[in-house]
Amino acid sequence: MSENHSSAKKMGLVSCSDCHLLSRWPKVSGSQAVYCPRCGGELHQRKPNSLTRTWALLITAIICYIPANVLPMTITSALGTVSADTIMSGVVYFLHSGSWEIALVIFTASIFVPFMKFIALIYLLLSVQFKSIKRPKDRTRIYQLTELIGRWSMLDVYVVTILIALVKLGILAEITAGPAAIYFASVVVATMLAAMSFDPRLIWDIVEDENHE
Ligand SMILES: [Zn+2]
Repeated sequence: MSENHSSAKKMGLVSCSDCHLLSRWPKVSGSQAVYCPRCGGELHQRKPNSLTRTWALLITAIICYIPANVLPMTITSALGTVSADTIMSGVVYFLHSGSWEIALVIFTASIFVPFMKFIALIYLLLSVQFKSIKRPKDRTRIYQLTELIGRWSMLDVYVVTILIALVKLGILAEITAGPAAIYFASVVVATMLAAMSFDPRLIWDIVEDENHE
């Protein structure tokens, strides 16, 4: 790899995550904390414990994904009957009532997209852990996409709760959020934080090391 592709880390530099000042990384820092000469914020060449944090948050999200799908998302009581709907039974309800577009939106936002985010993050984590040098550009794209979707993730929660609730607004009904709602929100938040904890520069560090050997 040519010199102009060298990372700041390789060149002994570090960028402050608080004020973005570029400064020299001290030669003998060891495990000692390094501070920004301008704003005093702690400097890190890479996000600290990126892989461990990302794994921990991702596993939390995957665990919460189970009750989010198994437990009722909405509890509707109308005319003396109480019915509890899971995300999937909401999807099935819309399919049967002919609103396949709404069924598709709920399925995509609450089942498919979170699942794809899990797969993307697992793939990125494993590729870094097994020091893969394959397709670093594509993996960076996958990361960018995961983060981009993450920014809109809070919408998932609204989409699902509002749409499932909308079903029964036609009739006189009382709708409350079921226990799955809190788990679903946890999935969204934990996945978002997991994506934020992952440092995509780790992908390129391995590629760079490989080229220097
Ligand atoms: Zn600073």
